[in-house]
Amino acid sequence: MFSIAIHGGAGTLSKSLMDAQKGKEYLNALEQALEAGKIILEKGGAALDAVEAAVVALEDCPLFNAGKGAVFNHQGEHELDASIMDGNGSKGGSVAALQHIKNPIRLAKAILQKSAHVMLIGDGAEQFAKEQGFETVDQAYFYNEFRYQQWQEIKDEDRFALDHSLAIKEQKKGTVGAVALDMHGNLAAATSTGGMTNKKWGRVGDTPIIGAGTYANNATCAVSCTGHGEFFIEQVVAYDVHCLMLYKNFSLQQATEYIVLDKLKKLDAEGGLIAIDNKGNCSLVFNSEGMYRAHFNADEQKIITAIY
Ligand code: ASP
Repeated sequence: MFSIAIHGGAGTLSKSLMDAQKGKEYLNALEQALEAGKIILEKGGAALDAVEAAVVALEDCPLFNAGKGAVFNHQGEHELDASIMDGNGSKGGSVAALQHIKNPIRLAKAILQKSAHVMLIGDGAEQFAKEQGFETVDQAYFYNEFRYQQWQEIKDEDRFALDHSLAIKEQKKGTVGAVALDMHGNLAAATSTGGMTNKKWGRVGDTPIIGAGTYANNATCAVSCTGHGEFFIEQVVAYDVHCLMLYKNFSLQQATEYIVLDKLKKLDAEGGLIAIDNKGNCSLVFNSEGMYRAHFNADEQKIITAIY
């Protein structure tokens, strides 16, 4: 038995602006990323490697706000955050405010496996990356005309938070993530983001915060979040799913629906999450208009992709 799910963020293009061609591009990209992880699991590989592979594929795709498609911050630069967690022993690795690392999720995994630390940020994280032989890129690698235009529309304003401005045509956020259960019963979760368009002052969201944007524990589940990061940090969302299951015996579905559709919704905290429990059950829940998502359904033996 194995199971995998991915998301490309809750900051989807509004339904009224999504045409058939664009929709197809997103769904194809999701399918390819899911496939990158699924192939590893099918061969008996580790959930940790599968979530890394799926997130690398999403980071390399300019359609999503992570890696290559990362949004612009207030200074017109890109700052990337990511975290990964192995449910086997609940070990985490995390990075924030990277500016020159092509695949932040790979660096987060290297921190998990090769350092005595959990979280490295900024220049120090990049120094560690160099020592580990990581490929670095200059900021131009992340340039994307669409993201640039998005930033142009709000760069002179003092806003960076969740916004539904019609002028922008897309919410200024987005993130990618993956969760998986492998044949050996191990769970893993990974999340990566460019954060929010026009963010400033070194703003960091929930994505690299273990327990907020990402959590995995073989006793319960693996979770990857997307949405308005400030709320996800304050509500410790990913860990909350684990706690409801462990301490209150909630099922995965009950825990995720309660948190996203009730608790977060009441706070006006827009977003969603993907989660898989240690039996392979999968939950993809969001309170936003859409969430780019895909999962492999072991019962039906097929990949399901969806946006709204
Ligand atoms: N959670 C991310 C952040 O706050 C953004 C997102 O998921 O859309 O940085």
